[in-house]
Order: sequence, then C-alpha cells, then structure tokens
Amino acid sequence: MTGARPPSAARGVGDAEADEATASAILTIDLDALLANYRRLAGLSAPAECAAVVKADAYGLGVAAVAPALARAGCKTFFVATLGEASDLRVLLPDATVYVLGGLLEGTAPFYRQHGLRPVLNSPEEIKEWAVFSVASRTRLPAAIHIDSGMNRLGLSAAEVETIAVADDLFGTFELALVMSHLACADEPEHPKSEVQRQTFEALRRKLPKTIASLANSAGILLGRPYHYDLVRPGIALYGGKARRTGQNPFAPVLRLAGRILQVRDVATGETVGYGATRTVRRPSRIAILAVGYADGVFRALSAGDDKEGMRVYLGSHPAPIVGRVSMDLITVDVTGIPEHLARRGAWVELIGPNVAAHELAAHAGTIDYEVLTNLGARAARRYIGG
Ligand SMILES: *Cc1c(COP(=O)(O)O)cnc(C)c1O
Repeated sequence: MTGARPPSAARGVGDAEADEATASAILTIDLDALLANYRRLAGLSAPAECAAVVKADAYGLGVAAVAPALARAGCKTFFVATLGEASDLRVLLPDATVYVLGGLLEGTAPFYRQHGLRPVLNSPEEIKEWAVFSVASRTRLPAAIHIDSGMNRLGLSAAEVETIAVADDLFGTFELALVMSHLACADEPEHPKSEVQRQTFEALRRKLPKTIASLANSAGILLGRPYHYDLVRPGIALYGGKARRTGQNPFAPVLRLAGRILQVRDVATGETVGYGATRTVRRPSRIAILAVGYADGVFRALSAGDDKEGMRVYLGSHPAPIVGRVSMDLITVDVTGIPEHLARRGAWVELIGPNVAAHELAAHAGTIDYEVLTNLGARAARRYIGG
C-alpha cells in the first residue's frame, strides 16, 4: 500500500485553519476517541493482550497517524492485510510485532525476514515454504498459523492441522509465535456458529505446540471471556464502528465527515434535480449543492429519486435530506426552511458526525460501516485532533 500519508504533509496544507479555508470536504479523525476505544477494548479483554488491526490504511483513517498513537497507548502487536501495508507500518513502528493476514506469497520470505515481519501462514504450502526458508536462514523465524474453524476462507482445515501436527520436526524449524482463527458470525451475538467455531478452534489448537492463541475480532471481544484467549484482534471498534449488528454501539465515534456548500438555489415545483432527472420537486424548494460525491466515499447508492427518501445530512441541528443522484463530486440536499446563515455558500454540512453515525450512512447505502470507512478520505482533507 502506498496510500499511507502523514497527517497533512501530502496536501501541502499544514494546519486545521488552512484546511477549513481551502477544503471542499474534511474528514476529522479524533485520536483521543481512538485511544479511548483502544483502552476500553484492552480493559474488556484483559488479561489477554489487545493488538490492533490496521489494514487498509487503518480502515481508511490513516495508518501514519493511527498506528503511532496506538503504540503510544501501549499497543505492541499489529495486523495488516498485505506485505505492502506491513512495510509501511515497519517504517512507522520499528519495534512493533507486525503480522500479515494475507500470508506468505511465494518467494516473499526474504522480504519478511529483512523487515522483521511475520506471516500468518494460511496453508500447508505456506508453512513448508517458511520452514524451508527458516532452515536455510539458520534461524527459527517467527510466524502465525491460521486455522480455519468453519468460515472456509483462509486457513488450515482440520485435516491439514492433523497432518502438520505430526510432521517430523516441523516445529523445530520455525517459531510458532501465534495460532489464530477468525469468527464468521460474531456480529450476531445469538448466532450458534460462534460457539461451534470456538470449540473447533479449541480442539485443533491443542494438536499444535503450545503458543499464544487468538480468536476474537471486535465483535468476538464482546462475546466474552471464553473468546479472548491470549490475544484479541479488534479493528472496527477501535475506529468507532458498530461491531455488533444490534443494540447500542458502546464505542466512541472517531470520525466526522463534513462537506462544503458550493451554491444554494431555488427550484420551482415540477423541476427536477440532478442526473437522470430522478427527483421531481413537489413544492418551491431551496436546494444546496455540496462539494462531496462518490469520489469522496459518499456512495452513489445514497441517491434519492422520487421513490426513495434520502438520507439526512445536518446543517447545525437541522436535517436536510439528499435529493436526486449522488454524482462524483457533488450531492444535492433539500434545505428548504433552514435558516440562511446555515444554508449558505461556504457553510459546512455534516455527513457523518454526532447526528449521523457511519453505520447509519452505511445502512442507507445498503452496506456496512467497514466499507464506508475504507472508502472515505481518498480526496477529503484529513484533520487529526487529540492524541
Ligand atoms: C479484519 C480482521 C480482523 C478485525 O476485524 P473487526 O471486525 O474489524 O474487528 C480480525 N481478524 C482478522 C483475521 C481480520 O481479517
């Protein structure tokens, strides 16, 4: 991943005031809230170690700011998806333990060794390659093994665990630093699959040499003590996302997205708004045009034609529904009746914030907050507060 950038250097706009003056959209990331969520997760999981999943540029929030903040709060172990993300992280955190969930791509073992990174070995082929490389390096290089406990995504099947468990001298060649698995349905606390997976993991990990065990993502942590093992791997909850599908979100919101009003116009009854003329105005209306669109991560699925009520954005405490199609750089919202000092050229409008949680925006777009977060910030100016 090459997209990681320091808080504002890449933009040539150094400080928050300058951002306010020149930006069309601002993504504000509250590092104090991030750290509060980390401490909360660590408290829920203790005595297990609380690691952090910072893949996909820390879920779009910016790994260059997020990872060092977490490290200062005591986080020692980090998970990323790809080797590119891992090498970016290694530059930021020279001493952290870094695992790559995507595992060992053929021929990349020397790169892992050179940068002190650890693969999560997902198959017997990967394990063999790591073992052979460790022998050639005359070092018991550390790695994790991922057991598939019923998700049928990455990891070793039960039969494969049995086979490697009895392989001659395999575990003398490299250091088995972690055994992990991943839950498919932890976001639904009543789902019976979590307990089935936990029991499968429990049985299979016992066949391997004793080491640190890890099963829980954010939602898994909320399932309670039996799921915590020695190390937990939260991602979305750190970033204020909704780990559990139902109930209140116990974690503090970390990000806000605001867009600027470029223009406000009167639209007469019977006129249409935006591409495709999908929305016909039913009363004399004031329409504000905001400088955010799907290129900023405000999904086109948030479009609101005549058949669909639009998600509400906020001008101060005043809700204004999206009307018409979301386009690449613009959305249109109905600000009829909203005071003019709020609905004016240059004013800021909240798309995600105290009134609209990321998971609510996600629900309107037919997706989850994970996808919203990882799509934000490609273009918006980022502003970090706290930390
Ligand atoms: C992404 C990921 C996590 C973090 O999951 P959240 O639901 O964001 O907490 C943990 N473990 C694995 C294997 C992952 O891929």
